[in-house]
Amino acid sequence: MASEEELINLFSKVGFNDKKSKEVCKNKKVSQSLAEIINESKVEETDEKKLSLLHALAVESKGGDVPRRELITKAIIDGRLKTNLQVTEAFKYVKENPETANNETMEEKSGVGIELSDSDVEREIKKYMEAHKSDIETKRYSIVPSLLGDVKKVPELKWAKPNLFKPIIDSLVLEMIGPKDERDVVKKEKKKSTKKQVETKKEAQIERSMFSEGFLGDLHKPGENPQKYPELMKEHLEFTKRKVFTRFPPEPNGYLHIGHSKAIMVNFGYAKYNGGNCYLRFDDTNPEAEEEVYFKSIEKMIDWLGYEPWKVTHSSDYFDELYDLAERLISLGKGYVCHCTAEEVKAQRGLKEDGTLGGERFACKHRSRSVEDSMAEFRKMKNGEYKSGEATLRMKQDLESPSPQMWDLVAYRVLNKPHHRTGDKWKIYPTYDFTHCLVDSFENISHSLCTTEFRLSRESYEWLCDELHVYRPAQREYGRLNITGTILSKRKIAKLVNEGIVRGWDDPRLYTLEAIRRRGVPPGAILSFINTLGVTTSTTNIQAVRLDSAIRAFLDQTTPRLMMILDPVEVEVENLPEGYEEMVEVPYKPGDTVKFGTRKVPFTKRFYIDRSDYRDSTSDDYFRLAPGQPVGLIRVPFNVSVKDVVKDDAGKVTKIIAHYDNDGTFKKPKTYIQWVPKSASSPIKVNEVRIQNQLFNSENPSAHPDGFLNDLNEQSEEIYRDAIVESAFTEIKEKSPLNIPIEGSEFNIKEKPSVETVRFQALRVGYFCMDKDSSADKLVLNRIVTLKEDSSKN
Ligand code: ATP
Ligand code: MG
Repeated sequence: MASEEELINLFSKVGFNDKKSKEVCKNKKVSQSLAEIINESKVEETDEKKLSLLHALAVESKGGDVPRRELITKAIIDGRLKTNLQVTEAFKYVKENPETANNETMEEKSGVGIELSDSDVEREIKKYMEAHKSDIETKRYSIVPSLLGDVKKVPELKWAKPNLFKPIIDSLVLEMIGPKDERDVVKKEKKKSTKKQVETKKEAQIERSMFSEGFLGDLHKPGENPQKYPELMKEHLEFTKRKVFTRFPPEPNGYLHIGHSKAIMVNFGYAKYNGGNCYLRFDDTNPEAEEEVYFKSIEKMIDWLGYEPWKVTHSSDYFDELYDLAERLISLGKGYVCHCTAEEVKAQRGLKEDGTLGGERFACKHRSRSVEDSMAEFRKMKNGEYKSGEATLRMKQDLESPSPQMWDLVAYRVLNKPHHRTGDKWKIYPTYDFTHCLVDSFENISHSLCTTEFRLSRESYEWLCDELHVYRPAQREYGRLNITGTILSKRKIAKLVNEGIVRGWDDPRLYTLEAIRRRGVPPGAILSFINTLGVTTSTTNIQAVRLDSAIRAFLDQTTPRLMMILDPVEVEVENLPEGYEEMVEVPYKPGDTVKFGTRKVPFTKRFYIDRSDYRDSTSDDYFRLAPGQPVGLIRVPFNVSVKDVVKDDAGKVTKIIAHYDNDGTFKKPKTYIQWVPKSASSPIKVNEVRIQNQLFNSENPSAHPDGFLNDLNEQSEEIYRDAIVESAFTEIKEKSPLNIPIEGSEFNIKEKPSVETVRFQALRVGYFCMDKDSSADKLVLNRIVTLKEDSSKN
């Protein structure tokens, strides 16, 4: 038997340091086996990793006689056996087969050559966790220890490097259920609600189509809409080839809002779903309100939502045809020029003094004038011989009808204003009631889809087409989409803009489409949200927070994660040398490294954490860094603990001196926090992070007794000016738009590159995108939505 001194000598020859050698020698049997192992295989000086495996082999041997142990030692030295588990399995085999043990079988038993990449391991763990999702959601953080044991038993993971499990599980759990909160302090019985949540989630996974169900699913097929003159249908179908033809007809007098996105989807989407065509038709019959910016913005928003008009037309393209039909209406005895004032018309319509209908209706004296007379008057109107209000062309409808839409509507009015497309050619302009149905007819619309406030207009729509003997499209009405907790009216938004309360029509707190886009909301999120609401004939009132949670669900599946810190504090690690860099591989989206990839973040001597992640003392519900309470840094193998804290005169922490706990045994931290290294290339400074909250306090700002301006939320925009983000932001920015598709979704819109497509989830903070106020030397971010619904209500 060798003396301890001889053993230490032998061990140091192969590379063990004195400390380790002494430790090994404390166990007689193990040290004896280690000496035998070294001698029988003539082991030469080798690296730390292999030494530790040789030590493991000695521990397995425990002084016993193991005939073919050299097989194992060789495999360790030439690097085939890489982990303790492999050594254990190899040993088991060799020990049990002292006569016949051979390399081939040993390798097979110990998984030699089975290489699992980090992302393989992550994928398998994710698979396992997805399968146990409801359990994890119920038990939350208390499940983590048993989870660690369970994944080790997954056959596919048998040969994975075991030190990978812990950080992967930690970040996947964080991803799945969010950071620790009060639920992780006191374990409440939450089973029931969790079950329900799981069920609603399942329901949401089955994507329904608004185009095949409900209002749109029940619409007629092209050619099935009734006609007074069936021969007109033949001509119509010759043109359309039985395809669906729809139109989206905005008035270019304002910016589109969230409600319009439903109209866009209903019209463009229904046509597309059925292999048909949709026009973008600017309903530009009111030159007073129209402006070039609105035309441009409307086209841009339709494109943003992923739709392409079959043709872009204008009601004004048809002014000549419309005029001819107006003359035809007069010739048919169905139109007359009227000189009554607005007051007189009201009285004729039976409008009572209190403004309600129900009085006696009567015809005006102009109604009975001759065709020739009306024709002459109409031409005088056209020639500019009347001023605004002095004459109108009215349709001779049916005063006996119960519908106000049949009480001799105005078809043309005098307006001596130049039109942006027709210049000063016209002194008269057609009304909506005259124009809309006729242009639908000219354009061979098969389904004229509009909102329910036009319900009564259907009768006059059909009346006019029939009287003029033109193809009669089918007008059908669906319910509007309203968002509560905000305002959509042009006039009110204009007030907010003009008074400088918001940053413009595209302020991210508004619900114009320009604003929603600037806020960073992906267009696909809007479409899938509207799709899940479905289309019916009733108005849909939706709280803004519900829209937010649909956006959040969409972003969760499509955005990479980065580490960003709003209010940084520097941490300096005392036991790491200057220039220390430990590369930590961090997936852009845990569990989805195939689509998103990973990046390497250097763990350095100096880094930043958020001020809110440090406290001077700990408490039962506080899990982050405090003296005596180490914390984990996302994906960094060991914890850091507080050694000292530097404060300024005001008591504000300016620096935390920390210890990197890589020298003892690993202890599970209570939680993990995000961090950003301080190095030559990191961090990237964010000049402004704008945290946008609800603009109004109540669900119905317009109902405020003193007006909606008195319902403003004082904290609707918070700005952080010291924020920092890790350098991988640059990569995300360069690769934008990522256009990550959602499997099984109809709404994977390919976005074009633009500032706001630079989106990411800042771990533990929220979803963010770049704002258009950014420039080459200024980075501005908007918060798109919070990570969880609750925090938005605070
Ligand atoms: P607003 O009065 O809200 O400004 P609007 O009706 O004047 O809107 P238009 O330009 O006429 O705006 O709208 C174009 C199309 O969009 C119309 O068919 C209209 O019915 C539809 N639309 C407008 N608001 C909504 C809404 N909230 N939900 C669904 N469709 C809408
Ligand atoms: Mg309108």
